[in-house]
Amino acid sequence: MEPFLECLGASREVGRSAFMLHTDRNIYLDYGIKLFDESGKPKFPIPTTTKPDMMILSHAHLDHSGCLPSLYHHNKIRWYSTPPTMEICQMLWMDSMKINGSELPFRLAQFAKALKFWSPLLYEQTIQTGRTSMVLHDAGHISGASMIEIEHEEKTILYTGDFKCEETFMHKGAKLAKDVDVLITECTYAKKEHPPRKAAERKFMDEIHETIENGGNVLLPSFALGRTQELIAMIRHYDKNVPVFVDGMGREISKIYLRYPKYIKDPNAFRKNVHEVTSVADQTDRRLATRKPSVIITSAGMMNGGPVLNYLFNCNSESKVLFTGYCVDGTNGWKLQNHGFITKDEQDLYVDLPIEYIDFSAHAGRSDLLKFIKAANPQKVVLVHGDKPMDFAAELKEEHGLDAVAPLPGERIML
Ligand SMILES: [Zn+2]
Ligand SMILES: [Zn+2]
Repeated sequence: MEPFLECLGASREVGRSAFMLHTDRNIYLDYGIKLFDESGKPKFPIPTTTKPDMMILSHAHLDHSGCLPSLYHHNKIRWYSTPPTMEICQMLWMDSMKINGSELPFRLAQFAKALKFWSPLLYEQTIQTGRTSMVLHDAGHISGASMIEIEHEEKTILYTGDFKCEETFMHKGAKLAKDVDVLITECTYAKKEHPPRKAAERKFMDEIHETIENGGNVLLPSFALGRTQELIAMIRHYDKNVPVFVDGMGREISKIYLRYPKYIKDPNAFRKNVHEVTSVADQTDRRLATRKPSVIITSAGMMNGGPVLNYLFNCNSESKVLFTGYCVDGTNGWKLQNHGFITKDEQDLYVDLPIEYIDFSAHAGRSDLLKFIKAANPQKVVLVHGDKPMDFAAELKEEHGLDAVAPLPGERIML
């Protein structure tokens, strides 16, 4: 039988990445959550009736991993990932149970069971099950992030997960893949080019220096995983002296990054960088951070909770809010950038500070995405993890002669 892919999420949407690949085995590829759907509620993968044999996780971001423990109500399947992915997941799952436990489709028992069924899989190490083999490659996205290459009866299927080709401060970037038969790729930025990285870095540092000279705080709402570490490394690369405070789970995740030095580009430099920033642990530290001009890197990146809301109303009027990542429509981060207010305890609170956005995405931009697809030269492209991938599918068909599809949620695609 020909292999096929069941799309359980991330189909014509970003969020809840979840797929089941059917070869001679039934293999889950990711099992994530969509943290905020249109109504602000979490959304989970579409359940499948097929009995799974195993699962492979591309990386720890909750939109790929956040529902994995829910597979352990009844299943006893092994799941595989790189070691940092598992350790970060453990922390993120625990945190999401604390924050919105009652809304999640799993409890502590499934969380504990899931951890027991984990097996490590390192980059470039192959595992074989039946007539299917699998290998992970560095995706250049966050620590431990992997592309999953599956080989079945002479067919090579590559699931990219989230990836970035360009070098950053933390990662060397994903290598181009060759001789792929079926490419299942994210296409978050299919329609958008990122600005040149170096110019964005210069603008970022100029904003920081200008605000500090005026006596303000630079507030950087950042995802604890990935973005916080990249910003620490970037700021310390350009400026060893500017006071930097790090608040939220990003501090703990930086420690995990350091425990797995092989998964980052320059562990020695990053170790030094982490020692050269101040960790914020409580309200006293928070007051200290805003008492003098400084940079404050704090979660949550989309401002839906986390210590960032505390800072927002405690910085002086010379301060500035600088976003460096994507905010989903309807989140506080989106509201602040588009309408100048956030919502807290059901109240709309207007913010008087200047707001800026500088794009430091950890995803491939449009031209890198096209370059990656062309190098892979696949017979079929399945576009996932994108807002409106139908246009991109049409473009790949018409301009590049590729058999490209943008599956619907729940659709089965023959590979
Ligand atoms: Zn990701
Ligand atoms: Zn993602």
